[in-house]
Amino acid sequence: MKQRDLAAEQVAGLLRTARRSLGLNFAFLSRMDGTTQHLEVVDTPLPKFVLDGLERAQDTSFCQAIRDGRLPSVMPNVKDFPEAMKLPAARMPRIRSFISVPVVLSDGSVYGTFCAGGFTADDKLSERDEALMTVLAHAAAVIIEPDITKRRRNAELEQRFLPLIDAGGPAVLLQPIIDLATGRRVGAEALSRFPRQWNAAPDTCFADADLIGERDRLEIQALRSAAAHLERVSGYVAMNVSPATLLTGPCQETLAAMPLARVVLELSEHDPVEDYDALHAVLAPLRALGMRLAIDDVGAGFSSLRHIVATSPDVIKLDRSIVTGLGDDRVLPVVVRSLTDLAGAVNAVVVAEGVETAADAATLATLGVSLGQGWHFDKAVTPEELRELYGVMAPV
Ligand code: C2E
Ligand code: CA
Ligand code: CA
Repeated sequence: MKQRDLAAEQVAGLLRTARRSLGLNFAFLSRMDGTTQHLEVVDTPLPKFVLDGLERAQDTSFCQAIRDGRLPSVMPNVKDFPEAMKLPAARMPRIRSFISVPVVLSDGSVYGTFCAGGFTADDKLSERDEALMTVLAHAAAVIIEPDITKRRRNAELEQRFLPLIDAGGPAVLLQPIIDLATGRRVGAEALSRFPRQWNAAPDTCFADADLIGERDRLEIQALRSAAAHLERVSGYVAMNVSPATLLTGPCQETLAAMPLARVVLELSEHDPVEDYDALHAVLAPLRALGMRLAIDDVGAGFSSLRHIVATSPDVIKLDRSIVTGLGDDRVLPVVVRSLTDLAGAVNAVVVAEGVETAADAATLATLGVSLGQGWHFDKAVTPEELRELYGVMAPV
């Protein structure tokens, strides 16, 4: 028998209520998939009778005949219904009283049935009992629906992600990172691009992959594709990774195989880090081999300064929410100035993300920000499209 999860236990409780209040021998919740009736949760005091997970043909079941209107929902004595006596359940296991109501989900679809039955006729079984069963079936639907939604969603995600993973993972483009004083490109950030028709930002895609346990694999594939670009471009390549993936063995092996002096690893500030000691243990040998560490999205206001204090990063990346438009703002430059001061104090280089205009770029330079990244220079492009030099100022 399948181990019951919490929802199944709760449904079993409802079935027991139904069975006991109607004085019947068994009760079950079934899923009808069109061809098969799956008795997903069965409640009965009879040992070795039917167990969770039993399957039978849907078209010859009592429940299907009831759904089709060939039999009534309430059958006090199955022998009174010749149509029922023709069906297998009347012989094996000789059901003589039966009551079945549909389990309807919130979108109106019928999931299956909520039923109870006995091996003797029961003249007291009535339409009032059907009302009780309907209430209990509704309660069961409420209990199982989140799980059903999750299963359907996961099936859809697997259909999208597994072929992509088989094909090697997302495409990875490079967004230039520019020295704001000279316009020279010093590096590039690797950014994943998922199929356009998915219509979802990469961080959403990685979060979706997490729901089906594929986030690690996908992130590691992105790291490998990013590393493959190293041969084709100059400067460093900054790569994104979540702390959870970083803690996995395959990720550490993938990183260890890279020319680490040209790698900056970006850890997002908004991903929770549960165990800084474990993180440190993974990062220390990689950093000893020349890998630099960046804290991403600083200023977005997630786990504030804790990452910075705990990891002493080489690079601090200012979140675009405090960068874009700072050329025309009074408060943002103050915020950026305080973070560049902080970076100076911990010997970290500052990269401003989301530099969209020449005015932003110019203001950043005056605030002590040395590097910038954003649409003012270019979006993420193929390695071949990267340039060595970018215009920092607007043409006069
Ligand atoms: P992020 O690491 O903060 O990446 C910067 C994001 O800002 C990118 O969004 C980039 O396209 C966008 N951006 C760049 N310049 C500008 C600008 O001037 N203005 C504005 N408004 N936006 C700009 P993107 O590519 O959609 O990526 C979103 C997030 O997805 C990334 O945020 C990162 O957290 C995650 N991500 C992307 N690729 C990977 C990957 O390969 N691995 C992992 N773990 N995460 C990734
Ligand atoms: Ca990043
Ligand atoms: Ca960022």
